[in-house]
Amino acid sequence: MRKIKFGGKFFKSLNFRILLSLALTGMVPVLIITGVFLASYEKQALTQLGNDVRNQCQILATQLGSGELADEAGSETLQGELAQLSSLYDGRILIIDRNFEIVEDTYQLEEGRTMVAEEVIRCFKGENISHYVSGRFIEMTVPITVETDGGRKIVGVILASASTDSIHSQLEGLRSSSDMWLVAVGICVLALSILLSGWLIRPLKHMNQSIGGLVEGSLDGDLDIHDCTETENISDTFNLMLAKLRLVEESRQEFVSNVSHELKTPLTSMKVLADSLLMQQDAPVELYQEFMQDIAEEIDRENTIISDLLTLVKMDRKAPELNIAVTDVNEFMELILKRLRPIAEKANVEVVFESNRSVSAEIDATRLSLAFSNLVENAIKYNRENGWVRVMLDADHKFFYVKVSDSGIGIPQESLDYIFERFYRVDKSHSREIGGTGLGLAITRSAVVAHRGAIKVQSEPDVGTTFTVRIPLKYIA
Ligand code: ADP
Repeated sequence: MRKIKFGGKFFKSLNFRILLSLALTGMVPVLIITGVFLASYEKQALTQLGNDVRNQCQILATQLGSGELADEAGSETLQGELAQLSSLYDGRILIIDRNFEIVEDTYQLEEGRTMVAEEVIRCFKGENISHYVSGRFIEMTVPITVETDGGRKIVGVILASASTDSIHSQLEGLRSSSDMWLVAVGICVLALSILLSGWLIRPLKHMNQSIGGLVEGSLDGDLDIHDCTETENISDTFNLMLAKLRLVEESRQEFVSNVSHELKTPLTSMKVLADSLLMQQDAPVELYQEFMQDIAEEIDRENTIISDLLTLVKMDRKAPELNIAVTDVNEFMELILKRLRPIAEKANVEVVFESNRSVSAEIDATRLSLAFSNLVENAIKYNRENGWVRVMLDADHKFFYVKVSDSGIGIPQESLDYIFERFYRVDKSHSREIGGTGLGLAITRSAVVAHRGAIKVQSEPDVGTTFTVRIPLKYIA
């Protein structure tokens, strides 16, 4: 029994696909949510820090704008506030006057120097900046304004910077704890995915085992899987297929036994004839001739059965190679009847052909000739003394129809369903007597079906039989 292998083929298996899908479905949202949370936390913390520093600087700017800048900057209170602010935010504050001179530096490195930085010039023009520099600190400018007659005038600029190190160390802490959580969630998701994929795949494994069991056995029994609706449907369809297989196997066995039996009968007759000759010492020449005549007939019969069987096998092929050509069907039917007329005359049966229109169709003349010959030959064979056979040809825009009627012995109602089966004969001894093999109608039906046509039969015992064949005018491949 073949099983789904979970070794080298694992990555190709449905189990792996389900496992991967479940793991991804579980992990991707968790990773995205964690990433978004950390990024928005960083953004919010930075904005908060920026706002806090700006507010403090604005308070400073209001105090500085209340008097002379240099005096105010030098005041002790402000010095204290500046020192407090710069240590609180771990940053630096510079106060620059209108002449771009640094009047105050909390690092006390650049006091008295000139500062012509772009941010400062832009601030004097009324444009405040606030930006985040190289992931390490926030830098911003705040104007110092005084009230004048014509409105507010910028007299100086506060250039402040605040370190973002505390935010980053907080983020680092968050990241490492979220990493730990992610690993724990990952392990849980993986374990759950393995359990779930095993559970989902179980009906298929069950089905594989059951089918394997049936294949190993003799195809007896049915699949009975009720794990889920899908496998239930598959097992129903599989059971239908099994039933068909059994039917095919049955008919194959029947066919083989029929063939053996049919081929054996002439051989048995020949053996009996030959033995009885051998047993009679000094048998007269006439007896030899008579028995040899019988043996020759049995050989002919064996030959007919074999060639009929070969014809059937050829027709039974899945895609029979047809030699399709446009054919004048009237001429074609006339030719078939011409060949059969001598047999009809011998049997004292009259054969009539009726056709109201000229019909031309795309057919394989050899195959169909065999089919129609069988029908007409049967109509002659299973007829009565002075009987008749009427062959009618008609057509519409799609099909042509051939009707073969006879005034013969007819077929009993209960046999009508079986006459197209191989080796089926209503009256075995009568059919044998007149040289039948029981394969003629099977050959006829195969040829008609290969042309995508149909055949039906109507019969009344002791009155006669009518076979009607319908063939498309244009061959449908
Ligand atoms: P066979 O070689 O025995 O004629 P067929 O397959 O041609 O085999 O026919 C199967 C059986 O159908 C025949 O044995 C015969 O009993 C019956 N049958 C076929 N055609 C006719 C007919 N026109 N009239 C009466 N019986 C027929």
